[in-house]
Amino acid sequence: MSTLAPSKKPGRSSSKKPESVPLKKSESTPSEESDGVRLVQYRCQSCNAPYPLGADDVIATCPYCGFTFTVDGGTTSKHLMLPNRLDAQNVRDVVLGWIRSSAAKSIGPSVAKSADIDSPMLQWLPMFRVDSSYKTHYLGANKDRREGHHGWVRIESGETGEGSIWILARRHAVDFAMEEFIDSIDDTKPVTFDIKATQSSPVLNSEITEADAQPRARQRKSEKDRAALLKEVERLFDYQLDVHTKDCTYVHVPYWLVPFTFRNGTFRVAVSGVTGEVLLGEVPVTKRYRIGKWLTSVTMLISSALLLQALPYVTYAVLQGSSSSDDSGAILFIPLAVLLGGFVLWTGSVRMLGTILRYQICLTAEGEDREKGPGIIHSLGHLVGRFE
Ligand SMILES: [Zn+2]
Repeated sequence: MSTLAPSKKPGRSSSKKPESVPLKKSESTPSEESDGVRLVQYRCQSCNAPYPLGADDVIATCPYCGFTFTVDGGTTSKHLMLPNRLDAQNVRDVVLGWIRSSAAKSIGPSVAKSADIDSPMLQWLPMFRVDSSYKTHYLGANKDRREGHHGWVRIESGETGEGSIWILARRHAVDFAMEEFIDSIDDTKPVTFDIKATQSSPVLNSEITEADAQPRARQRKSEKDRAALLKEVERLFDYQLDVHTKDCTYVHVPYWLVPFTFRNGTFRVAVSGVTGEVLLGEVPVTKRYRIGKWLTSVTMLISSALLLQALPYVTYAVLQGSSSSDDSGAILFIPLAVLLGGFVLWTGSVRMLGTILRYQICLTAEGEDREKGPGIIHSLGHLVGRFE
C-alpha cells in the first residue's frame, strides 16, 4: 500500500516562487522504494511546501494545502471528494462487528475473541467519475424450451440511458476489494475537496489522465454489461456500445484498510468510508471451518456413490415401468438426472476438499466466501440445461 504524504509538517519558506527539484529520491518514505515506485521531490506552487511526487503521478494534490494540479502543466478539472463518515474507533467497531456476525458464520466465533485489530489506515483514493450517455445493442439466443420445439430463439435488444461510471485513477498498488468498493459508491453525492476533511490521511495522486479515464469507463461498462447479459442469454453473438462522455470529475474517495492478527497470521479487512460498511475481508481458515467443509465434502462423496450405485436399479425400474406407458422418452430423464446428480456431487466434493487446504479465505460483507465459485444447485441447473 503506498503512502505519499510526508510524516512531518513543512517549514514555510518566505519565497512563493514555484520551484521543483526533479529526480531527487525522497529519504522520508523508503517503503516506496522497496515497492519499486520512484519518487521526486516537489515544492507546492501554492504554499511552497516540499513534498515527494511519485514518478507516475499525473495529477497531484499538495498534502498541506490541498492544491491540485496536473503534473504536465495542463488544466486541473473540478476536484471533489466523498465525505468520510468514520473515524478510527468507528472502523474498529465495524470490523469487530463484522468478524463477530458475518465472518463467524464461516469461521466460527473463536476469531473474534482472539483477533487483535491493528490501527485502521485511511487513504483517499483518486477516482474519476465519468458521466456519460450510452446506447447499447445486443444480439443473442436462448434455447427454445416450448413443448415440441427445438433450436434457438433469437433475442435482440438494447437500451439508451445515462449514468456515472467510477474509475480508479491508479495503475498499481491498490487492488484489495476495489471491485466491491467501486460498486458500492455508484450513487453517492460528492462535495468540494477540502484538505482539512482528509484527517491528515494520505491523499493518493492520480496515475492516469482524464483522457485515459474515458476509454477505461467504456471498457468497464462493456464488461459489466456482458457479464449481466450472459446471465440472461445462453449465447451472446454481438454486443455494441456507444458512449458519449458528458462530464469527467476528479474525486477523492475514503478507503479504510484494517489489518488484524490472529495467532501468527496477519489479515486485512477493507471498509468503505463512504458507506461505513465492510467491503471485503480476509479471514484465517479455522479448524471449525475445515471440519465443516470436510464433513460436507464426505457427505457429498457418499451421496454421489449411493446415487451412482442406485443408477442401474433406477434405470431398470424405469424401463420396466415405461414399457407399459406412452411417455417413455420423458421418463428416461430420471436415470439421467440420477447420473448427473451423482456427477455434480462428486465434483463438488472434490472441489470442497481443495478449499480446506487454503490458509485464508476472502469473505464479502455478508460473510460469504468470495472464491467458492458456482454453487451445487447452479452447477446442476447448468448441466441439466446443457443435456436437455
Ligand atoms: Zn500546498
